[in-house]
Amino acid sequence: MKQCKNCSTGFNYIDMLKSVWFKNKNAQCSNCAYSYTITVDSKFITTALIIVPAALFMAISTMGSFLLKASFGLIIAIIASLFAPILSNFEEE
Ligand SMILES: [Zn+2]
Repeated sequence: MKQCKNCSTGFNYIDMLKSVWFKNKNAQCSNCAYSYTITVDSKFITTALIIVPAALFMAISTMGSFLLKASFGLIIAIIASLFAPILSNFEEE
């Protein structure tokens, strides 16, 4: 688990997830309120992690309607995004 560089408190998963979902929202240390942003590399990785599986599914799926494909693609994207905080790196703002 990622830790605050200032006080070594572990980051809250939900805070990191919010920071992934809302690009302008920073993760904040719950102990010392130090603010962190996702690194540019991590933004790229998380975006790819979320879009690629959903796009692949939509490309290979044999489901009939586009709406159904898009709905499942969205669900896959949401599930993939749950793993994003684990793979992301954060840096001091
Ligand atoms: Zn801290």
